[in-house]
Amino acid sequence: MVTSRYDRQLKVEQIGTKGQARFEKASVLVIGVGGIGSFVASELVKAGIGTITLVDYDKVEFTNLHRQNLYTEADVENGLEKLIAIGRHLRAANSTVKIIEKSQKFSGALLDEVNYDLVIDCVDNFPTKYQINEECFKRNIPHIFATCGANQGQVMFMQSQENACLECLYPKQDIAKLGLSANIGNNPMIVAITGSLEASMALKFLTRPETVNPENLMVIDNWNFDFRKVHVHRRAKCPLHGGLKS
Ligand SMILES: [Zn+2]
Repeated sequence: MVTSRYDRQLKVEQIGTKGQARFEKASVLVIGVGGIGSFVASELVKAGIGTITLVDYDKVEFTNLHRQNLYTEADVENGLEKLIAIGRHLRAANSTVKIIEKSQKFSGALLDEVNYDLVIDCVDNFPTKYQINEECFKRNIPHIFATCGANQGQVMFMQSQENACLECLYPKQDIAKLGLSANIGNNPMIVAITGSLEASMALKFLTRPETVNPENLMVIDNWNFDFRKVHVHRRAKCPLHGGLKS
């Protein structure tokens, strides 16, 4: 008898064969395959997700290599798009997963092409994060938000219109206070931790959705080794939630 490549994760009580079967039927959209996205894509593909659609349009750059774990110096020298480089890596890691690459910017139209079970925001800029939040909110599609900079990472699951969204968490006018990685830098390990936590949240939701508790923001600091969970409430002044009962 051939042992399943998933033997060790099947033995995890909370996953088991039932969770694995759900996971293998799931279709997810990963937006951005930079630092966080390359960890998310790698971990979900290795764990046997059914179908993964990747969206990005950047090329691999030299400054990516310290934190974006799937890319190499040869990818930079060959001027490869991240999608090409990551596609090769992911197919070599698990040929049973259906991988679809879309070389483009995010647009809401992507969400109308396929019924995704989950959208995973791995982009590095807040204008696109707000766009993902709004387009998922309008269609009531669950999505996971993640961001990191310097030594801090954040992850939050946003399940539906009934739960707090990104504009509840961070009103747009406050966003200038958050640093961007190009300015404040990125500890490479916070990228790995944040990406792994986001992938963990995806695995949990796709295998045992009833166990996911939305409206919890995870905040991780990998310099002070501080891990916190903050409850986020729907905000009456949120432009998306404004018309709903809070
Ligand atoms: Zn909201």
